Amino acid sequence: MTETVDRDRDAAANVDGDLMERVVSLCKRRGFVFQSAEIYGGFRSTYDYGPLGVNLLRNVKNAWWRSMVQLRDDVVGLDAAILSPPAVWQASGHLANFTDPLVDCRNCRSRWRADKIDGTCPNCGSTDFTEARAFNLMFKTHAGPLEDEGAVAYLRPETAQGMFINFLNVLQTTRKRPPFGIAQVGKSFRNEITPQNFVFRTREFEQMEMEYFVPPGEGPKWHEYWIGERMKWYLDLGIPEAQLRLRHHAADELSHYSAGTADVEFLFPWGWDELEGIANRTDFDLKAHGAASGVRLDYFDPATNERYVPHVIEPAAGATRTMMAFLLSAYDEDEVGGEPRTVLRLHPRLAPYQVAVLPLSKKDTLEPLAREVLHMIQPHFMCEYDVTQGIGRRYRRQDEIGTPWCVTVDFDSLVDGAVTVRDRDSTEQVRVPIGELVDELRTRFEAGHSRSEKSSDQL
Ligand code: ATP
Repeated sequence: MTETVDRDRDAAANVDGDLMERVVSLCKRRGFVFQSAEIYGGFRSTYDYGPLGVNLLRNVKNAWWRSMVQLRDDVVGLDAAILSPPAVWQASGHLANFTDPLVDCRNCRSRWRADKIDGTCPNCGSTDFTEARAFNLMFKTHAGPLEDEGAVAYLRPETAQGMFINFLNVLQTTRKRPPFGIAQVGKSFRNEITPQNFVFRTREFEQMEMEYFVPPGEGPKWHEYWIGERMKWYLDLGIPEAQLRLRHHAADELSHYSAGTADVEFLFPWGWDELEGIANRTDFDLKAHGAASGVRLDYFDPATNERYVPHVIEPAAGATRTMMAFLLSAYDEDEVGGEPRTVLRLHPRLAPYQVAVLPLSKKDTLEPLAREVLHMIQPHFMCEYDVTQGIGRRYRRQDEIGTPWCVTVDFDSLVDGAVTVRDRDSTEQVRVPIGELVDELRTRFEAGHSRSEKSSDQL
């Protein structure tokens, strides 16, 4: 899929206007995402991931790692430092270029990012602004006890530079040769002028980035390849095709390092917006760090006896932002047995818990067997164990947090050694012998994935 999917922009208007409110409220009520420092009035634009959110976010990152590293033989991982010296950001161009245009509204004194407001103050409607000035988004701090210029350090605003400055380390220790990639998942920090839309734009967030090093001249074809792979990843994990599109950047929109960028966009409640950028960074970064450090960052190809600086294709996604897209697209309300229910139709690989083990009654007689079943499943899947309230209520609670399967232990189980497995989406219930339970769950889990196993043929 390499062409821009040109869908009707008006489609945005069809999205339920309350969706955002409902999802945000579900996140708080059920423990996905909390406002950070809430007991002190909250710290703007920072969020804490609760017991369910930490599982969901981890599953998003694991699904990315699985597809980008585990299932490939040409990509290796890295976990680089978050604190870094100014030299890195001087060479990368971030000290000079990583800025957003900041304007002040002369009427109400609020501050805005000029490229996001269409010339009108969202606070008071005025069109009278100060001249835009370049505001650098990097968080600056000091390393060590002296707060002088020599101690300045930055929190990384992207994970990518870690891959470029470790290019030689990875090349020499892994015996990889272009085309090959280095992948990293981790926190990044940007002093956003207007953080907004829940976890869509925050000052502290997580990224999933991969730098794919290729021989010069092969950049465009690998760019196309990675655009296809990345679109497929979102679709395989359940984002409907109608809520996903590709948008190629116009020449005047490209970052200072890019020879071509395509964004994967999701249909958020406020319209189409970016989930991931896939850029052809050419040899910009390796050349810049090579020149600034004095260390030659290139590759000697023994087959051709040629030395070259590889070009780089970078799929750069946001983990926290993507988690939000998965939540929005999974949110659904339907009716079961004449009663309304809220259900998160999350892909089993993403759901915070895959299985809930529910003894039918609180009576002590069921507890030992129910715990035995729980301990059987726990090494294979994330499980919740819930004994409170009636079984119907407990099913609803699991539907609402996206648990694909409930396993109910009842009084018959004590006699026939079988349990009931209930499916979240169809609500269908089947009886399964306890001895076959893990296999049955495994089969269902894998079936949820049959499509994502196959990555398109490598070039
Ligand atoms: P934007 O134009 O939205 O500011 P960007 O184009 O600068 O984003 P990139 O530098 O390409 O973003 O970063 C790659 C990905 O990291 C983005 O597609 C997004 O998913 C994520 N990301 C970037 N900034 C933030 C943020 N402030 N909060 C959450 N996620 C972010």
